[in-house]
Amino acid sequence: MTQRVFNFSPGPAVLPLPVLEQAQREMLSLPGVGMSVLEISHRSKAFDAILAEAQASIKQLLGVPDNYRIVFLQGGAHLQFTMLGMNFLQGSGKTADFVLTGTWGNAAIKEVQKQGPTRVVWDGKDENYSYLPAWSELKLNPDAAFAHFTSNETIQGIQFVGEPDTDAVPLVCDCSSDFLSRPIDVERYGLIYACAQKNAGIAGVTVAIVRDDMLSRAPKNLPGMLDYGNFVKNDSRPNTPPVFAIYILNLVCRWLRDDIGGLAKMDALNRHKANLVYSAIDDSASFYRPHARPDCRSQMNATFRLPSEELEKSFIDDAKKLQLYDLKGHRSVGGIRASIYNAMPLIGVETLASFMRDFAKRNG
Ligand code: PMP
Repeated sequence: MTQRVFNFSPGPAVLPLPVLEQAQREMLSLPGVGMSVLEISHRSKAFDAILAEAQASIKQLLGVPDNYRIVFLQGGAHLQFTMLGMNFLQGSGKTADFVLTGTWGNAAIKEVQKQGPTRVVWDGKDENYSYLPAWSELKLNPDAAFAHFTSNETIQGIQFVGEPDTDAVPLVCDCSSDFLSRPIDVERYGLIYACAQKNAGIAGVTVAIVRDDMLSRAPKNLPGMLDYGNFVKNDSRPNTPPVFAIYILNLVCRWLRDDIGGLAKMDALNRHKANLVYSAIDDSASFYRPHARPDCRSQMNATFRLPSEELEKSFIDDAKKLQLYDLKGHRSVGGIRASIYNAMPLIGVETLASFMRDFAKRNG
């Protein structure tokens, strides 16, 4: 198959076509270099420029203040669960607060618990993680080592708007599945981390944005590869970094900046795409049952059930005939999940929404 389909995969996920085309053009030789990015030293001038541009673009896109460092790491978001516990909880004599809103919040606390005591501030388990707390109802510990939340629960399809006010307590966020999909107020955070393979690029690189004062909280003598300070000191290169993943991240940032026109525009487009899917759900409300409570719906991952598992199976099969791929929900929620990240073209979502209306009419 050479023709591209509409890829609704939760991640790794669809990439912007211009990014893939440029990577294809440059696969044999980076302009002026005569070698591909896969073949050059990670300490070459050419790679220095790629890494610096990626950092500068993220800084510009998100408006990252000067007292924050942007570092590129490996090990996915999972390794961040370990690192944040090691750097900011272990040895602090404090407890870390967690807001548990789904699979990924639970995965984070499970690893952090290995480094020190944690406290669950709020847990949406009673309703199978279909809703979120209001920020004002959270009783955060004013003396916590940090307060952690997951901005978008990729599996359940629920997404926060904004962030809690934590005063002096550092706010830590797993932003993996909505990073670079909308503006955020970076100043409110001590640490933001995100694996790249949803909106920002491909698997292999993880971005962390860490406030300077956080670095001094880390215990001395951490293993070098698990020490944020070591990545800052060595400009993300204490060892050989994932060069290709950083190169793609840089191209995605350029696309967001130059083709899309920034994160406010990306957000508006994402909102429009999500509304198309949710309107198709709401207009056939007796047929489609959304997992998320309406006020908690994710702009990134729309999750819903059909009246029976048989219908869900034929929905997925019929969708494929229209080139709509990877719509199966995660087993913990079931049903359908449409991941509509930055690079999902509007036409893909329009095709999905009209298919949904048609399918409901034929089978409702
Ligand atoms: N957090 C969130 C919100 C995610 O969506 C994912 C991946 N689906 C992860 C963490 C885990 O990422 P990784 O596989 O890179 O460890």
